[in-house]
Amino acid sequence: MRVGQGYDIHRLEEGRPFILGGVPIPSPKGPIGHSDGDPLLHAVTDALLGAAALGDIGGHFSDLDPRFKNKESSFFLTQALKMVRKKGWAVANVDATVILQSPKLNPHILTIRRQIASLLELEVDQISVKAKTNEKVDAVGRSEAVVVHSIVLLEKIVKK
Ligand code: MG
Repeated sequence: MRVGQGYDIHRLEEGRPFILGGVPIPSPKGPIGHSDGDPLLHAVTDALLGAAALGDIGGHFSDLDPRFKNKESSFFLTQALKMVRKKGWAVANVDATVILQSPKLNPHILTIRRQIASLLELEVDQISVKAKTNEKVDAVGRSEAVVVHSIVLLEKIVKK
C-alpha cells in the first residue's frame, strides 16, 4: 500500500465561478486559477501523484501552458488516475478537508463525493470530503482564500 498527501490554496475573487470537486457551488466569490481553479480536485490529484511518487500537478500540467487555460480540473485528476494505474496501483480511499469561511458546504458534500467517486471510478463510501470554516482567523477566515488538504491510499492492483 502507498499513502499520498495533497494541499492546495487559491485566492478568492468576487464574481468568479466556484467549482469544488467538479461541482458548481453558488457563491459570490470563486477561486482564481489558470484552470477552472478547483482546489479540491487539485489537492486530490496531488495526493494521487504523491502516493505513486509521480511528481506533482504543476509538473504535469503547468499553469504557464495555454492548453490548460480554463481547463476543467477533472482532466488533471483522470490523467493522474491513468498514470497511477499504469504503475500498478488502485485507489483504496480518498479523504479531504476543505477550509472555507463561506458559503456553508454541507448541502453540497454528498454531490461532491459522488462526483469525485465517479471521476475515480469508485464507490461513494471510498470518498470522504469534510468542510470546516477557519473560525474567521487569517486570510481564509476573511474569505480571501480557500484551502484543501487531502490524503489518498493506494493498493496494488491484484491480477486474477
Ligand atoms: Mg490549484
